[in-house]
Amino acid sequence: MNTEITTTVNNLLNEPKDIVIVGHKNPDGDAVGSCLGLYFFLKKLGHNPTVIVPNDFPDFLKWLPGSETILIYEKNSEQSESCISEADLIFTLDFNSLGRIGSMQEPLEQSNAAFVMIDHHQQPSDYAVATYSDTSMSSTCEMVYVFMESLEGLHLLDSKIATNLYTGIMTDTGSFRFPSTSASTHRRIAFLIEAGANNAIIHQNIYDTSSPDRMKLLGVALKNLVILPEFKTAYISLTQKDLDENKFKKGDTEGFVNYALSIKGIVFAVIFIENKQESIIKMSLRSKGDFSVNEVARTHYHGGGHINAAGGRSSHSLNKTISEFISILPDYKAALCQ
Ligand code: 5GP
Ligand code: MN
Repeated sequence: MNTEITTTVNNLLNEPKDIVIVGHKNPDGDAVGSCLGLYFFLKKLGHNPTVIVPNDFPDFLKWLPGSETILIYEKNSEQSESCISEADLIFTLDFNSLGRIGSMQEPLEQSNAAFVMIDHHQQPSDYAVATYSDTSMSSTCEMVYVFMESLEGLHLLDSKIATNLYTGIMTDTGSFRFPSTSASTHRRIAFLIEAGANNAIIHQNIYDTSSPDRMKLLGVALKNLVILPEFKTAYISLTQKDLDENKFKKGDTEGFVNYALSIKGIVFAVIFIENKQESIIKMSLRSKGDFSVNEVARTHYHGGGHINAAGGRSSHSLNKTISEFISILPDYKAALCQ
């Protein structure tokens, strides 16, 4: 974080403020962990923060310290809107454009508060008075750690902050194995463990809580796996019927796409998930090496993300979405098969 951002943020935080912290729609471990880590830090600095997310987050995050305080806009829109309109300062975490927060976009755009963005996605929008954007960072949680360090606040790290930040770094790095995991990430993780993050318990709480229904759904997903060796690509699809038959709950499909990417020789993997309620196909895209799924998601699927992990959606039927997907692969053959 450069000195200009540090100075701006120090000035913004020089007296107690009403602060709203916002994470993106369909909040993941990094979104929830970074919002809550920052929440406890700002509380310790004497501010009055509230975390608001557009919609509900998965059960496997509901044990995180402070998660019970989070306002869910979809369920508590009145209370959320009054917090937003009274806020002096709004932090937006783990997303790069206000288009990533669904129906919360409007109240946020109407707010007179100063905005601070902390995010590691590519191509950040320009709406904040302080934009701390770093696409080389593993996670927004790691950036919140650096943010605290820049404000000379690391002595305020406690087990609640450490647990939240550890969780988001762990989930966004696939447990410290993606290329975005640096030596500095590991050093920061070491400090988080010293500050009270229990690595073994956190891992168990996040990854060892599958329901039998989720495991059955994974079985269906693996049955539906299609491999296209000529494009080093594999994809999985799940229909609404597959989800319903296996009592789908939010978060159940998290990580499924990685099974497709774990096949030897595959560098590009996609999961297509039908959502009848929203009339969309939600897609998660993953890659290995230099192949940019951010570019594919931006060009074809109204989405984006990072080089190796991105998301998007299609408003066509599942079959049409898949056949169109197959039809664009020849355009990427050179990049996929270099
Ligand atoms: P996931 O596939 O796990 O939902 O998301 C992978 C990455 O892509 C995350 O960093 C997420 O924030 C980003 N992402 C997911 N969906 C979208 C989207 O619709 N638009 C943009 N810009 N990014 C997305
Ligand atoms: Mn993230």
